[in-house]
Amino acid sequence: MKMKTMKKLSIFAMLLLFMAACNSNSEQKKSMENSKDLASNPFMHASTLPFQAPDFTKIKDSDFAPAFEEGFKEELAEIEKIANNPEPPTFENTLVAMEKSGELLRRVNGVFNMLSGANTNPVLQNLSEDIAPKMAALQDAIFLNNELYERVKTIYQKKDELKLDKESLRLLDYIHTEFIRAGADLSAENKTKLKKLNEEEAGLSAKFTNQLLAAAKAGALVVDNKEALKGLSEGAINSAAQDAENDGEKGKWELSLQNTTQQPALQSLENRDTRQKLFEASWNRAEKGDQNDTRATIVRLAEIRADKANLLGFPNYATWSLQDQMAKTPEAVISFLNKLIPAATAKARKEAADLQTVINKEKGGFQLEPWDWNYYAEKVRQSRYDLDEDQTKPYFEFFNVLENGVFYAANQLYGLTFKLRTDIPVYQEDMRVYTVYDNDSTELGLYYCDYYKRDNKSGGAWMSNVVEQSKLLGTKPVIYNVFNFTKPAPGEPALISYDDVTTMFHEFGHALHGFFADQTYPSLSGTNVARDFVELPSQFNEHWAIEPQVFRHYAVNYKTGEPMPQELVDKLKKSLKFNQGYALTEVLAAADLDMEWHTIPAGETIKSADDFETAALKRTHLDLPQVPPRYRSTYFLHIWGNGYQAGYYAYLWSEMLDDDAYNWFKENGGMTRANGQRFRERILSRGNTEDYNTMFYNFRGSKPDIKAMLENRGLLDN
Ligand SMILES: [Zn+2]
Repeated sequence: MKMKTMKKLSIFAMLLLFMAACNSNSEQKKSMENSKDLASNPFMHASTLPFQAPDFTKIKDSDFAPAFEEGFKEELAEIEKIANNPEPPTFENTLVAMEKSGELLRRVNGVFNMLSGANTNPVLQNLSEDIAPKMAALQDAIFLNNELYERVKTIYQKKDELKLDKESLRLLDYIHTEFIRAGADLSAENKTKLKKLNEEEAGLSAKFTNQLLAAAKAGALVVDNKEALKGLSEGAINSAAQDAENDGEKGKWELSLQNTTQQPALQSLENRDTRQKLFEASWNRAEKGDQNDTRATIVRLAEIRADKANLLGFPNYATWSLQDQMAKTPEAVISFLNKLIPAATAKARKEAADLQTVINKEKGGFQLEPWDWNYYAEKVRQSRYDLDEDQTKPYFEFFNVLENGVFYAANQLYGLTFKLRTDIPVYQEDMRVYTVYDNDSTELGLYYCDYYKRDNKSGGAWMSNVVEQSKLLGTKPVIYNVFNFTKPAPGEPALISYDDVTTMFHEFGHALHGFFADQTYPSLSGTNVARDFVELPSQFNEHWAIEPQVFRHYAVNYKTGEPMPQELVDKLKKSLKFNQGYALTEVLAAADLDMEWHTIPAGETIKSADDFETAALKRTHLDLPQVPPRYRSTYFLHIWGNGYQAGYYAYLWSEMLDDDAYNWFKENGGMTRANGQRFRERILSRGNTEDYNTMFYNFRGSKPDIKAMLENRGLLDN
């Protein structure tokens, strides 16, 4: 839900990167200039700080480019050596050697990702622009290395004779599959075709992103009458005036567009005409027939993906793409979505009827439309729960939630303890660093927390590793969580919302998945798992935020130390199930569109993106007029620009898993150390060493059941 997936650089991607660098003359020249600095470059050796933590007292912006360059060079040389080894291929001299390779690149990339997400600057931004296209271009060059693939294939064909341990066998399977998925088995002619399709896809994907950015900017709603904005806060109106002025519309007000269909201001705008205009500005942003119209771009993207799948021997893109996921097939995804659709849409219809009742009571004289939904839902929410965020915030002080909530839950379930450290250098003074101790007091890893919003930080919240756990490499996890909470005035407490509290539990759930990693090979370690499995540990951990034992422990008034009154706790709990029919239906509609676009067969021409979308939603009964998809096809950045194609369902799939896993706890005595240990042993410590379905089955004792998710969303209530 809230994780920003930081793409980790596999050894293959690293290799590709290196080759691109080598093929470029200017890169070689730069390398000469930089070579004299390498001796003092902090990335050239493993950090001597505890857990190989990056030494931010020594790292300078100018160290990254030469370290990347040298890292590519080393990695390429290593891979070439493996591919051209005169010895016959063995698991050790091929697979293990590949896992060990790229040490320098791993090091510099780990720190680079950390900083470019959370504390960037023009130097790092330029560098990442430099690196990104090389990575994309190199992807093919790596997986289409014939000599390397022949070695992997030879070992794979003898896998039953090799007496490999379970994890090694999984690694062999995994890497072999990745080669095949990338087209290693294709003829030379088809490899060339595939490369061309990949290039065209990458180009169109970048074009889509740029078109959408421009479309969203141009699509902002400008109003010339302050009265039309009635209902917005004074602060929101002022910033709308400022935005208009910045765009040369002084004296007017501008409401800029967010990437979802629904816009935040729709909750407060009293003027129905303004609401409709803002909604339509959002809905039609990329369908205006100008150069920012994305319809031709997405149609071509869908066609290219179908052609790629066809070339690789699959009936459609989703079938190819889902092979290494827990769901495995589009049929499994569609069947999963179909189990949710009736309950979600029934609930949404009921919610719509409730909202219509309010409209009628007020003698509104109109039918509920999508632009009315959030405005009336907010009215119902306030009257039904009488819950104001300002009432609850004094009970959620950030550090208290972290240490007495998030850490406390990890202590109760897994026996972990935490010690604040002041000797580990950080890249920003507001951060905190903790050593994490296991239940037997051995050191498990290092945890960084970077919590306040800054101009040089990406939005949202995320977790990643700067050092990954691996027995082969002898490394323990160094993990960070990044948030965007508002920094309080000096001396004031950082008070957050309950939504923020769940975000903290969520990101720490990812962190636990990383800390409990117990793998030999870095490629299979910790959170390096399928997209439809990776949100299980994080969403599972959210459940403990509202667990009475945990909640009581952290939800205390920052001034008085008093626990939150029960009446307020009850209101908060009830409000969590509000509007879930709408919330689930809009996500289902988006997930459905994603699957529809990525199950078209090769050779099918789509005449109209709009007709395709309308027909798709109608076929799956997700065409509720008041509940449009969370993202319309033409501005669905996840699937056309961000790599989530045929994968948007993963959030909901993981939700089925986490709710069902939590139900196992409820059925077996709840929050106990023994139960936590079981979850750790069977899920959290496993990385990608086992089939995901087997892993889940071994924990739950049955296949995932969707009922828990429906219950938790309040969709089975009358
Ligand atoms: Zn997440």
